[in-house]
Amino acid sequence: MEEERVKEEALQIIGVFQALPRLVVFDLDYTLWPFYCECRSKREMPCLYPHAMGILKALKDKGINIAIASRSPTPDIAKTFLDKLGIQSMFVAQEIFSSWTHKTEHFQRIHRRTGVTFKSMLFFDDEGRNIEAVSKMGVTSILVDNGVNLEKLRSGLRKFALASVSCNRKQVE
Ligand SMILES: [Mg+2]
Repeated sequence: MEEERVKEEALQIIGVFQALPRLVVFDLDYTLWPFYCECRSKREMPCLYPHAMGILKALKDKGINIAIASRSPTPDIAKTFLDKLGIQSMFVAQEIFSSWTHKTEHFQRIHRRTGVTFKSMLFFDDEGRNIEAVSKMGVTSILVDNGVNLEKLRSGLRKFALASVSCNRKQVE
């Protein structure tokens, strides 16, 4: 499916949900692109997973901010690739640094930078330990197995909407 069609479908999926995240956070390696950027050269031209660009653009169109949380040990390569792909400026926060924590530090920084609460964030990553640690912070977190795609976007937004319903119910009780 080409980028425009993915974007159209992503816009439709987003349009279904009333409770939407204020910020969607993406891992890089094996979530937005199909490789570890530390194993690549800056001179290469990177590619994203087939649905990734359409999804990023649809989120931006709907006024939903996007950010990056990556434990890559080579932030310079990651940033060069984001630049080459023309998407560097789309992200309101880019936390790219290696860390022993499973991205909890990344999310603390993203929260400080954006002011968005963990409850209002949705996160996509391909590593179970990151998903586990970050979901404990209150972030709706989705494990991807073959990069981010429309199916994962739908299940992420659904999970987020369900979490916010049960959250509101708790406030009323
Ligand atoms: Mg990854």
